[in-house]
Amino acid sequence: MNDKKEIAVPSRTKEILAKHGFTFKKSLGQNFLTEPNVLRKIVETAEITENTNVIEVGPGIGALTEHLAQNARQVLAFEIDDRLIPVLADTLSDYPNVSVVHQDVLQADLLTITNDIFQEELPIKVVANLPYYITTPIMMHFLESNLPVAEMVVMMQKEVADRISAQPGTKAYGSLSIAVQYYMEAKLAFIVPKTVFVPQPNVDSAILKLTRRATPAVQVTNEKEFFKLTKSAFQLRRKTLWNNLQNSYGKDPATKQWLQDSLAAAGIEPSRRGETLSLAEFAALSNEMVARKEG
Ligand code: SAM
Repeated sequence: MNDKKEIAVPSRTKEILAKHGFTFKKSLGQNFLTEPNVLRKIVETAEITENTNVIEVGPGIGALTEHLAQNARQVLAFEIDDRLIPVLADTLSDYPNVSVVHQDVLQADLLTITNDIFQEELPIKVVANLPYYITTPIMMHFLESNLPVAEMVVMMQKEVADRISAQPGTKAYGSLSIAVQYYMEAKLAFIVPKTVFVPQPNVDSAILKLTRRATPAVQVTNEKEFFKLTKSAFQLRRKTLWNNLQNSYGKDPATKQWLQDSLAAAGIEPSRRGETLSLAEFAALSNEMVARKEG
């Protein structure tokens, strides 16, 4: 029916770029995928079926979007670059189940837009080759929105994927690991070499598979305080928990007593480093701090 080559085939990508006179903007993190096998693997990893609605961030010229459209019920794609809107209208003209929204995803009211675009209430998955300069803000934007995202399968710099999926006691473990793992189970799915992109980025990438937990990983009485604590604990990585907590919360006698009492009640040695604490330990400490502050 259609003898066009896939968008991601290097010769077709080249043709599309030439036809529209498109030039890459480094500032928008534009590295386009030109390897159909990687795209197939992403769709397989995300287990996309006709009973899935997909949100994509940054469709570029539509390489991944095309694969998503072939498998999902509907695809909603946010693209910030106005020059790509006519390109996408051209490359994706065969796929009526794709809606491209010309907007900065970080400014998007995700709940309202998805309600408007998706015709049926189906599990929502976020699948994207993320613009690397804003990987973390995009992840947090989705996690902190009230949108019921079942799963995220996202490509990012390998180093960031390592940090998000890191376990306690490792060098990569930090407040980002905790912020994401609080909501989602994180697993590194596979590595993507830098050679399959145009233009080539400086580093290799990885696909991370994040699955929404039925309830957060740990029970905290005040989420805001919990995330404040985890950020404080990693402020200076070589310092002890005690040093970092005093730096964030204060060194006056009353504050020191409050911190000491909370640490003791949570059974955590002040001489430990933040990177050795599990999510459960951070939750216990945060809950003790909150209880003592209010009590
Ligand atoms: N999905 C395409 C692919 O895999 O070939 C392109 C991926 S490229 C790494 C990132 C895309 O995100 C670019 O198309 C870029 O214009 C877009 N982008 C950058 N910042 C954005 C933002 N804040 N909101 C929406 N899209 C953005």
